[in-house]
Amino acid sequence: MKKNYFLGAAANYSRKQRLLHTFSIGKQSDIDDLKDFLAKKYDGKAMITKNGRSALTLALRANLPKGSRVIVNGFTCCAVVEAVRAAEMEPVFADINKKTLNFDTETLKNLDGDGIIVQNTLGNMVDIESIERWAEKNNAVIIEDLAHCAGASYADGREAGTVGAATALSFGKDKSIDTISGGAVIFRTKIPKFSDPRMRPRLSDHLRERFYPMFGAMSRGLTRIHLGGAFMKFLVLIRFVQRSADNKLETNRKISKFEAKLALRQLQDLEEGPIRNYFLVKDRTELLKKLREAGYYFEGFWYEKPVSPARYYEKVEFPEENCPVAVEVAEKIINVPTFYTEEQLQPALKIINKYVEKD
Ligand SMILES: *Cc1c(COP(=O)(O)O)cnc(C)c1O
Repeated sequence: MKKNYFLGAAANYSRKQRLLHTFSIGKQSDIDDLKDFLAKKYDGKAMITKNGRSALTLALRANLPKGSRVIVNGFTCCAVVEAVRAAEMEPVFADINKKTLNFDTETLKNLDGDGIIVQNTLGNMVDIESIERWAEKNNAVIIEDLAHCAGASYADGREAGTVGAATALSFGKDKSIDTISGGAVIFRTKIPKFSDPRMRPRLSDHLRERFYPMFGAMSRGLTRIHLGGAFMKFLVLIRFVQRSADNKLETNRKISKFEAKLALRQLQDLEEGPIRNYFLVKDRTELLKKLREAGYYFEGFWYEKPVSPARYYEKVEFPEENCPVAVEVAEKIINVPTFYTEEQLQPALKIINKYVEKD
């Protein structure tokens, strides 16, 4: 298992860091500093956004006309599809390679698009040179989505985010940069005249984002007596916690200043690319039951459906017949949660091992 396993800085806070998160004070200059840092790092014009999906929407709008067809990884988060549709474009789903969970030139065959979103699923990098050749031949614009891979590099040594026409980052829960919410876009080839988001964060969102690490820690404490899941559900019900998928796409809404400060800190400390560990297993339902019995909370897969979460899947109208591998993987994948230490995980990994699909 890779050591620097994904992710979720906020999920791995110490008690002191949790307090710092909850009570840290941000300034406008924190947003400006983050912007300058990203502009330099990714060599373009940066804009800080409310979340990753808003950033992706702006990246698409800057580079493609309305009505464009945009190739999307067939195994992804609803945020990506939402962004394509918010930009008034059409998502075209490409099936994935079971080994990488990414599309490749084989699965892109017979597809055409005006744009392509490269996602580097769970930190697995695409073969970027072949994707670039494909894009050139098809006259498609490459947009990089760094939600899973900030800091990672492609096989040829170039860092993710320095290749495409534009780059979108998410600072959402469990992402490779995690401040609970936030995002950024870097425009590289086409520099639009969009102005920075102007609306202030909603107070309700702001408070939820401040207190989430506390609630997360309480819920994990309760996992030991099998109540963690129920506690989280209750917090969602009374709206003290918002599920990541429900984070609204708003291109004109600002990030909370304290989150900009935390994001900059995490970006400055970025180590080599993260990876979110996963296994493809047989009898996932039975395995989860075993894990629950052993006191582990392993719910929340990336991804439980080819486009997740399940409650939005119908709306996406995903073409299952074109993406059989994505459908299969969604039934078999299990992710290692981001909040257990290596040591805590050992007994769980033993259980999982018995279920891992051998190919
Ligand atoms: C989570 C995610 C995003 C964006 O997420 P936000 O919640 O809008 O910040 C984008 N792409 C992928 C692949 C993701 O998993």
